[in-house]
Amino acid sequence: NRTPLIAGNWKMNLDHLQAVAFVQKLHWSLKDAKHDDGSVEVAVFPPFTDLRTVQTLIDADKIPFALGAQDLSAHDSGAYTGEISGSFLSKLDCTFVIIGHSERRQYHAETDEIVAAKVQAAIRHGISPVICVGETSDDLEKFGASAVPVGQLQIALEGVPADAEIVVAYEPVWAIGSGQAATPEQAQDVCAKLREVIADKLGPEAAERTRVLYGGSVKSSNIASFMREPDVDGALVGGASLVVDEFAAIIRYQK
Ligand code: 13P
Repeated sequence: NRTPLIAGNWKMNLDHLQAVAFVQKLHWSLKDAKHDDGSVEVAVFPPFTDLRTVQTLIDADKIPFALGAQDLSAHDSGAYTGEISGSFLSKLDCTFVIIGHSERRQYHAETDEIVAAKVQAAIRHGISPVICVGETSDDLEKFGASAVPVGQLQIALEGVPADAEIVVAYEPVWAIGSGQAATPEQAQDVCAKLREVIADKLGPEAAERTRVLYGGSVKSSNIASFMREPDVDGALVGGASLVVDEFAAIIRYQK
């Protein structure tokens, strides 16, 4: 009963003009696929400067894509130059916000505690956090695959209410943009352990309904193998979400 979620993280690609062309083309290439039949949920995560434009477009053309942002501030308002409040995002109809992506952890020194504060901010503003966790190749060597992501998720879920709508994304850092995806078995193993963390922190009902995604070199050629795994409920797609035909093929994986 967990609707599969295919999420496209554009990262720092596509300005607001390119975003319009992209979303229109994607919508058109999916038209015959009945992607609005409820069998899969599609979400796009454009840069902040595109959000208003994409919101207007999907609203005007009744395009069945959910909208998400790539980050938000842990604060609600005030003297935080350059930051974006969750209240701004909810007014733009953002359903989701990515939190704790490995690129934010790496290049912006986001700690587990900052990630946890941002998760709280998203929930305060009625936005579902897409909480990203994952191990580096060093971590993998030293601790195995699951210890680091499990630890990251435990901290991120501290104080989260049991009824919060959240999404968890397992993104092994070594698989991101490398062309070397995890195997479906590796993804299943860690996603199952992350679901146990959700059960532990938020209870069995939350664990049952919360979607756990895999991310890292997802393509049209490997998506079905991930989606066959019982604890993988969707994908967080980077590079392949920027190519209309490729992302459309990922969305249509079961057709
Ligand atoms: P790639 O799909 O380009 O490997 O990126 C994955 C990712 O980081 C999505 O958030």
